[in-house]
Amino acid sequence: MEILKERICRDGVAIGTEILKVDSFLNHQIDAALFEKIGEEFASRFSDVAPQVNKIVTIEASGIAVAAFVARYFDYPPVVFAKKDLPNTMTDAYYFSEIMSFTKMKMAPIRIAKKYLNEGDKVLIIDDFLAHGQAAIGLLNLIEQAGAELLGIGIVIEKAFQGGGKKLRDRNVRVESLAVIERIEDGTILFA
Ligand code: 5GP
Repeated sequence: MEILKERICRDGVAIGTEILKVDSFLNHQIDAALFEKIGEEFASRFSDVAPQVNKIVTIEASGIAVAAFVARYFDYPPVVFAKKDLPNTMTDAYYFSEIMSFTKMKMAPIRIAKKYLNEGDKVLIIDDFLAHGQAAIGLLNLIEQAGAELLGIGIVIEKAFQGGGKKLRDRNVRVESLAVIERIEDGTILFA
């Protein structure tokens, strides 16, 4: 997606060779006009399965806004986000998994209440970044526990050099990434 790549080059900040900071339009301040275009692009890439998608699943926090915009282009299926902490309000039974967070360097629990993810659901996962694939694999695990079916994963920015995309595609999971970064070198972001 050309306008996304241009935006990453213009406003993205490389932190070392591993992390990309895109707070000005994706992770802290949100560019809603760009998010509309992101929603449109995912709808076009997943047009073959769009009529079947009855749920969009993501993970807090940064996936939520993207997923909500994407829902608009899939006829507004419910957007369910996995929670990373256990609020007092989460009194219902939930599916549980654990993922490694490389940005926080620790294991983190993720949960989705059973009532929001059901057997037979046809799910599209949406997230902001795909790095080592931990978040996506954790969500896939919750979807499998529910007996739901994953139709595909839509990612805004994939960092190919961290291997998550390969891991998922090797498992025959369909992954569509709007910008794929091959590597980060001397502060320069190089796309695949
Ligand atoms: P993974 O689980 O694939 O290793 O990492 C994906 C998750 O970590 C995303 O949900 C995202 O929140 C966060 N993440 C991974 N790499 C980056 C990055 O370079 N920049 C930002 N802002 N978040 C990242």
